[in-house]
Amino acid sequence: MKLTELKNRFSRQIKAGFNQAKISKQRCAVVGVGGLGTIVSEKLAMLGVKELILIDMDMVDKSNLNRQFFYEKDLGRYKVDATKEKLEQFNSNVWITKQPKPVQDVESALKPATIIFDCLDNIETRQWLNKYCVKNKKVLVHGGCSDVIGEIQIYIPGKTSCLECLPYPEDPNENRSCADFDAAICTTNGIVANKQIDMFIDWLHNKIKFNWISYSRNNGMRYRNMKINTGCKICHG
Ligand SMILES: [Zn+2]
Repeated sequence: MKLTELKNRFSRQIKAGFNQAKISKQRCAVVGVGGLGTIVSEKLAMLGVKELILIDMDMVDKSNLNRQFFYEKDLGRYKVDATKEKLEQFNSNVWITKQPKPVQDVESALKPATIIFDCLDNIETRQWLNKYCVKNKKVLVHGGCSDVIGEIQIYIPGKTSCLECLPYPEDPNENRSCADFDAAICTTNGIVANKQIDMFIDWLHNKIKFNWISYSRNNGMRYRNMKINTGCKICHG
């Protein structure tokens, strides 16, 4: 895109202090293109990142439509297909690739990413992704939500705690996941996904003040700096 066009299109966010040249160089992988991932990828396309790598093996189901950004005509399609098509209409300058497979099977697709968004719905895959980011020194922006609560965390290699520095609850259904059977509403999804984007913007501008945020519909936001756990088997093993 020419510089004048770039300035025009993004003039309002440049006015807000965003470094558009930096945003326009980002290659973003979105792992999980559902409740969080549809919103995260949409916002990244609006912001004008260089590339989006969409990874999700699922197809659009009717029960997704209360919170995931799909149309009724998308029912039965791969989520990555429907999302790519929609985002190309938002911003045709973003290079979009898609993988309708489990992320573990397409590990090499993550390689070009400058940042990875965890928009997953299960702990097992989340742990795999966290391990991948630690091993490959990739920045990870995690989002998770269930019903009226959610959390957001950024992992910056060598600087902040990884997702496993804070142990997961023993019962995987207790927290930190969003499985098919959980309650899921559009407001929680929207808030968590947008805070993931805020984290991304803050990271890009070296303005991260807190690496962990929890959200509860009843109690609002809590901001914390999660310390690196030197006993963590993943980032200090
Ligand atoms: Zn750790």
